[in-house]
Amino acid sequence: MNVATTCPYCGVGCGLLARIDASGAVQVEGDARHPANHGRLCVKGSALAETVDLRGRLLHPLLRTSGGSLRRTSWNDALDRVAKGFGKVIEQHGPDAVAFYVSGQLLTEDYYVVNKLAKGYIGTANIDTNSRLCMSSAVAGHKRAFGEDIVPGCYDDLELAELIVLVGSNTAWCHPIVYQRIAKAKERSAPPRVVVIDPRHTATCESADLHLPIKPGTDVWLFNGLVAFLFQHGAMDTHFVDTHTQGFEAALAAAQTDAGDPAEVARICGVKLVDLLAFYAWFARCERTVSLFSQGVNQSSSGTDKVNAIINCHLLTGRIGKPGMGPFSLTGQPNAMGGREVGGLANMLAAHMELDNPMHRQIVQSFWQSPCMAERVGLKAVDLFRAIEEGRVKALWIMATNPVVSLPDADQVKRALARCECVVSSDIVTHTDTNAFAHVLLPALGWGEKDGTVTNSARCISRQRAFLPAPGEARADWHIVCEVARRLGFTQGFQFEDVHAVFVEHARLTAFRNHDVQADGLPATRRLLNLQGLAHVDRQAYASLSPVQWPVTSDGEGVARLFADGRFSHVDGRARFVPTPARMPAHAADRHYPLILNTGRVRDQWHSMTRTGKAPRLTGHIAEPFIDMHPHDALRCGVREGELARVQSRWGAMVARVKQSGGVLAGNVFVPIHWSGQFASDARVGSLVNPVVDPISGEPEFKHTPVQVEPFPVR
Ligand code: SF4
Repeated sequence: MNVATTCPYCGVGCGLLARIDASGAVQVEGDARHPANHGRLCVKGSALAETVDLRGRLLHPLLRTSGGSLRRTSWNDALDRVAKGFGKVIEQHGPDAVAFYVSGQLLTEDYYVVNKLAKGYIGTANIDTNSRLCMSSAVAGHKRAFGEDIVPGCYDDLELAELIVLVGSNTAWCHPIVYQRIAKAKERSAPPRVVVIDPRHTATCESADLHLPIKPGTDVWLFNGLVAFLFQHGAMDTHFVDTHTQGFEAALAAAQTDAGDPAEVARICGVKLVDLLAFYAWFARCERTVSLFSQGVNQSSSGTDKVNAIINCHLLTGRIGKPGMGPFSLTGQPNAMGGREVGGLANMLAAHMELDNPMHRQIVQSFWQSPCMAERVGLKAVDLFRAIEEGRVKALWIMATNPVVSLPDADQVKRALARCECVVSSDIVTHTDTNAFAHVLLPALGWGEKDGTVTNSARCISRQRAFLPAPGEARADWHIVCEVARRLGFTQGFQFEDVHAVFVEHARLTAFRNHDVQADGLPATRRLLNLQGLAHVDRQAYASLSPVQWPVTSDGEGVARLFADGRFSHVDGRARFVPTPARMPAHAADRHYPLILNTGRVRDQWHSMTRTGKAPRLTGHIAEPFIDMHPHDALRCGVREGELARVQSRWGAMVARVKQSGGVLAGNVFVPIHWSGQFASDARVGSLVNPVVDPISGEPEFKHTPVQVEPFPVR
């Protein structure tokens, strides 16, 4: 029998049909009824069946012995030790001495329960997520512009657009089904124009009518220039701007100051003036324009401003919330969006409420009946690991993520974990670079074994359903958290019978919050994350839940597009233009580190490869880490294609093979993020990446670290 579920990889959130055939083998195919993919799957999704075996799985709770080895223990013992470790630190040093570092791989229900424990019961907001690394700038930009973290459109807009702008996104490799939908739209008799804005020439450029290979970090100049151009050429929707927005004059002034002259913008961005003007003219002319953006925008010390610079262009032209138009943030992970909904970031509360808003805290505390509510914003990812190294945080619970590989300045993360008194890791695999530091390892259910929901980039909530038995003693993450909560003495608040009960509580909180705030007489459009129509679903309805885009109305219907009526989530119902003065990345290339390191994904791998590394047809695409360089730079550094080279930054170094794909601008190198100590002798590019973050979002600057490259071994 087919089980309808959702892909565990990227934020496209494709629907799958999974079954176990007569021979006992897992079969996976695309779900034709799912609105994200209509039956299509990319190579990673298609290879899922090859990744569900138990090789490397963590099947039993393990404890680190004083000699450093791991020994098996019972669940009771492991849970007692976690509760004892956390309890002791809380008692001696207060709630902010403990922390949680979680993941966009968790299901919404897992995320909800662990946030409830940290923020509502322990009383600390020191819970952050690896989603901080990929989309927190988009969250901050949405909140500034719209008053709430909202992607206004849906994937169907791709088929309706006249112009599709892809900014900082190798969509063909990182969101392949979105790319396939764009490629399909290009086959129409009146195809959309596609513009790719990316320093690299990637596979995505194959569908592009225009590629603008901007100098890394110059995005704000480009979009400020577009604001100035649109204003000057009469493309402004004056009625929309006057009626539905605030702050236009200040944003225009900032744009004109930085980027009033297209020739100067072209010079700063390093693109041909004729190409820049072609893009600007297309944007001015095409009413139905979708601007998709991803990590190339978000992962920057000015990521939030980059997001708002893009949104400003859509507000100026009134192109938002209607078919075929709008800014569109592509999230990296399968449930980055669901985590945001339940307050998975250190500065957020559940149901898109703010931790630093006393009224929001009061609403959540009252709903949760919290004994000890967090009162201030917690530590964001990079700061959290600094606090651990400095001894301010003494107990850490990591769930479904591998920060020793994925965080910037990753050797600092190692030092932090080595110093931490109590490191707990819930994971599906035993051996990772991070788990090497864990004192307690808790076996979690993986994809195909666990039940719950995820939300994709387009606000679509889909079920992940179990079709495999729980292996060994593995348990659901939400269940493990409840067990620890009870052992910490919280007898109320964590008695969920099953995952359905968790989901309903989360949905009820979104509706409760809406009801409560409306009682204060504020406009209803302030609160769009509303699952009112799901707040009372019974077990059967939850079990058979079809994909639905929030907000979910009282009759259970989803909403494809938001803001079409011009009402936004700020108190006055107006969107905000945000002035975005342009600034360069934090660290420039110099004599010692003359090249700029950019990092990202490759087509067939996912994160630190714990799943995709098992499938031969995925590892066959690109089998080892590489350093992609321009031939001139390779010559200057004395390295040749196919040879090993050492890349070094101020923060760390790694060795990989030189590649010359032809897609990298002179002065830049590209290294993929996936390899770790588990798959190659310490090939963690994270150890090189500078730990500078965006001051608003806390998202690190993964796309711009000065490095040097030299032959290896050094000749
Ligand atoms: Fe999975 Fe993303 Fe591929 Fe869809 S596009 S099958 S969600 S990896």
